[in-house]
This record gives sequence, structure tokens and C-alpha cells, in this order.
Amino acid sequence: MSRNHSQSAALYAEAVQYIPGGVNSPVRAFKSVGGDPLFMERGAGSRIFDVDGNGYIDYVMSWGPLIFGHAAPRILEAITDAASRGTSFGASTAAEVTLAKKIVAAVPSIEKVRLVSSGTEAVMSAVRVARGFTKRDLIIKFEGNYHGHSDGFLAKSGSGLATFGLPDSAGVPANLTRDTITLPYNDIAAFREAFAAHKGEVACVMLEPIAGNMGIVPPVAGFLETLRELTAADGALLLFDEVITGFRVSVGGAQQMLGVTPDLTTLGKIIGGGLPLAAYGGRADIMDVVSPVGPVYQAGTLSGNPLAVAAGLEQLTILEEGGPEMYDDLTRKIGRLATATQTAADRVGVPIQINRIGSMMTTFFTETPVTDYTTAKTSDAARYAKLFRSLLEQGIYFAPSQFEAAFVSTAHTDEDLDATIAAVDKAFDGLV
Ligand code: PMP
Repeated sequence: MSRNHSQSAALYAEAVQYIPGGVNSPVRAFKSVGGDPLFMERGAGSRIFDVDGNGYIDYVMSWGPLIFGHAAPRILEAITDAASRGTSFGASTAAEVTLAKKIVAAVPSIEKVRLVSSGTEAVMSAVRVARGFTKRDLIIKFEGNYHGHSDGFLAKSGSGLATFGLPDSAGVPANLTRDTITLPYNDIAAFREAFAAHKGEVACVMLEPIAGNMGIVPPVAGFLETLRELTAADGALLLFDEVITGFRVSVGGAQQMLGVTPDLTTLGKIIGGGLPLAAYGGRADIMDVVSPVGPVYQAGTLSGNPLAVAAGLEQLTILEEGGPEMYDDLTRKIGRLATATQTAADRVGVPIQINRIGSMMTTFFTETPVTDYTTAKTSDAARYAKLFRSLLEQGIYFAPSQFEAAFVSTAHTDEDLDATIAAVDKAFDGLV
């Protein structure tokens, strides 16, 4: 018997009358996987429950922040405790100093850090800093990476833009993207050529050091190192957007894992413990261009919000306590899922590519190894949609889009994985 989604359907019918597309962020509309979007009611550990009372083992985990699962007791306690003292002061607090210190201690490139409320805001601000510091305008970014929805970063982006096949966004004046150069990810030769053509003009080269928004695509050997070497020699800044990878692949993020230190870093998701918090930081001399020390303006009514800071602080504290063993166990769990998925695909003869690193993975339905946006798009999105729908029906919630990652949390048990593996195995029977 198929699951009942009538309450979700009713809410969706109402939502579309008041909210564009019925959703507050496009991918939530389930457009690329079909069916009405689900309305969620609560989460607990590895599970999320919809308004019809269906439970799912969740591999979206709010798109990455919930590394300890839903409603993790220590995070809830930290938030409740902070809330009892007031929700916002618009003034400095001791906790934000503690959080800043923790971030500086953890992330190799960060000597000073500013807290903001979303990843979009973090990247937008970091790029303003890069331009203010270098007194240059050009930025280089990479196809299939996503850096939030601010003007100038949307050309050839991943995430929802990949899902909907949108090459760009309406409403962005051409002169705002004129200073953005977009290059293929992992293409060292293309980068060398473009960078040489703009010697002394590039403010920053920005990228996801491990791409997550075209599905997971790790950097090829030498890619990050080449960017580091050439930007340093030219006086351009290197910006790692670690909104997904920060505290996800290790406490020091992808830069620590891969041994390449950028000048600027953006963080989000995990550092907020599921509340709206993000950050940008980097070398102290660069960050000191930010107002009120320097001429680059950036501000926020809710920046450093006490609830978000409390959640983030507790989350980072637990990660520190867990140490490398905690990360190793997350990697082991995603490894189980990856191996089982490959086995199921091989059994039925469906070609797939699994990209995984740390506690994140993406299954692409293609015979071509996925190393950039072009190869990511060779994936058979219809097959992904079928897999998604079959898993959903079996009580497993993966991202409602091919171009995203699956995340495991410390709350996912081996029993959860056993159940997921059985469901994946069954789902592949329907993909032939
Ligand atoms: N950068 C990256 C790498 C992201 O994955 C995201 C969001 N998924 C953003 C920036 C934007 O963050 P937010 O959605 O919080 O604005």
C-alpha cells in the first residue's frame, strides 16, 4: 500500500496561492523528481516525519547542517538556554567571541572571522572584501559550483540552478556579471589560460574545494594546488567556499583535509547547528579591510544572533570532543551506503558513478566518470527521480534533486543503514 501524502498535498495546494511555487527555496518543490512536495512536521535523530505522520530515514539533513541529526539534545538545550535570556540584542555577546575563537583555532586559513546569517551573505561579503583588499574587480568561479543567490554568482551555478536547468537568473543586470568569469571545474589548463589572460586583474578565485552543488565532485590532483600557486604569485586572493565542507569533512574543513590553505574562507550550515548562521574569515590583514576598521562595509541586524551562536558553539564543541574518530565513523557509514549502492547497480546492470568524500556522497546514473559540470549533467535524471520516488515510498528520504549530496549524521545507526541498503537494493530492480 502506498503512503498517504494527503495532508502534504492539501498544504501544497494552499501554499501555492500565497508563496511563489509554494516553497521558500526552489528545490523543495520536488520539480525534478515529480510528485507534490512533502511538508515536514518534526525530526528526531536520523528521522524526519511529514505532516501525514510518515517517517523517513533522512539523508538530506537540512542540506548539511545537522551532523548530529535532528533535535540533537545538547543543541536543543543550548538553544533553549540562550532563548531564555533573550532572542536578539543587536549588540556584542561573550558567546560570539568564544565561537570566533573556536573557528580561528579550527580552520587553517582563518585568523579573523565575521559572523553573518546565511551562506549567500557570507560569500557576497567575502568577495566584497577580496575586491576591497585587492582593488581589483574580476572574479573567477567554476561551473556547477554554487555560492548562494547573490547577483554575480549565478552564472552556470549548481544546486537549484542545475536542477532546473537554469543557466542564469532573470533580474540580474548584465553589468553585474560582467566581472565574473566562469571556468570548467577541475580543468587546470583552462584555468592557467584564463588567469594568464587577466594578469593583475583578478580580485579572487572562488570555488568549492570539494564541489557539492553539482553532486559531489572532488578536486583532481593538482587543481587546488595550481589555483593556490598562481593566485599567490599574482596577488589575487583564493577563496574557498566551505559552506558545505566546513566542519563536515574534518574540523578544519576541506582545506585541512587536502592541505591547501586559501586566503579567505566562507562557512555556513554546520557552524549554525541548524540555525541561520554563516561566517567569512581569512588572513587578519585582509579581514581588517572590514568596517569599522577598514573601508569595506558589511553589517547585519541579526548577525551573531545569540540563539544561532549558542547552537553553533555547542555543535563545534561536540565535534571537537568527538575528534577524528567521529569523522572516521561517518566516513565508514557513507562507505557502507556507497558499497551497497554499487552492488545493487551491478546486480541489475545499471551504470552508475559514485562520488564520495567524508560523510557525503552522490550517485550519478552515467557511464562517464563525473569530474565536472559537463560530466555531472550526463547523469540520467529520470533514473535518479525513479530512485528517489522508490526510496521515499520505502521510508528513505534522499535529496529531491540529482545535483546534491547525501549526508550521514552521527545519529544514523547501522540499523538505519541496513534498512536503507535493503531499500536501495529493491529500488534498483525498478531502474532497469
Ligand atoms: N555556498 C555553498 C557551497 C552552498 O552549498 C550554499 C548553499 N547550499 C551556499 C553557499 C549558500 O548558502 P545559503 O543557502 O545559506 O545562503
